[in-house]
Amino acid sequence: MTLGKDWALAWMKECVSAVSEHREELIELDRAIGDGDHGENLDRGFSAVKSKLPGDAENAGDLLKLVATTLMSTVGGASGPLYGTAFLRASKELTSEKLGPRDMVAMIEAGLAGIQARGKADEGEKTMVDAWAPAARAAHTAAEEGFGPEGVLRAAADAALAGAVATGPMKATKGRASYLGERSVGHRDPGATSSAYLLEAAAKAAEK
Ligand code: ADP
Ligand code: MG
Repeated sequence: MTLGKDWALAWMKECVSAVSEHREELIELDRAIGDGDHGENLDRGFSAVKSKLPGDAENAGDLLKLVATTLMSTVGGASGPLYGTAFLRASKELTSEKLGPRDMVAMIEAGLAGIQARGKADEGEKTMVDAWAPAARAAHTAAEEGFGPEGVLRAAADAALAGAVATGPMKATKGRASYLGERSVGHRDPGATSSAYLLEAAAKAAEK
C-alpha cells in the first residue's frame, strides 16, 4: 500500500473536523495555562484551509504546502508559525506519487525539525514537541519493523497522544505557559493536544 494526494486531502479534511470538534476543549486547555485562544486560532486556520482545498495541487507535497502557507497567515499566536513551519517542512518530503513508510517517517521528522527550528524547545518543556518527538520515534520504529505507511502513521498518532497526556504533570519552560511556572503543572499542553489530533487525523485518513 502507498499513499498519495487523495490521502493528503483526506488527512486535511479530518484535521478540519477534528479541530472543529475539539475547539472548545483546546480553548479550555489554553485558558488554564495560556490565554485561551488556541482552539479558536486553529479552528480559524483550518476553516481557511477547508475553503482553499484542494486547490490545484499535483501531489501530497503541494497540498501540504498550500496548507502551510494558509496556516501561517491565519492561525496567529505562537502555534501559527510553528504549525506553518511544520507543514512546510513536511510538505518537502511528500513529492512522490507513491508514499511509503519511510516517507511517513521523513514527514514527521521534518515536521518536528521545523517546530524545533522555530520554537527552540526540547522535549520535556511542555510544548507540542512533546507530542511530535515521541511520534517521530514511534514512526521510525514502526518502519524498521516493516509496517506500511498506515501502520507508521498509527504508531505515530498513538505515541503523540501518549506524549500529549504526559505533558500534564510537566512544568512549562517555553511559551506563554512558562510564565505560570509551577502553576502550569497539572494541565495538559494545548499545542501537544492539538498535535495529537492532527496526527490522529493522518492515521485515520490512511486507514480509510
Ligand atoms: P499563544 O501561546 O501565542 O497564545 P497558541 O495558544 O495558539 O499561541 O498556542 C500555544 C501552544 O503553542 C502551546 O500549547 C505550545 O504547545 C506551543 N508552543 C508555544 N511556544 C512554543 C515553543 N517555543 N516551541 C514549541 N511549541 C510552542
Ligand atoms: Mg494561546
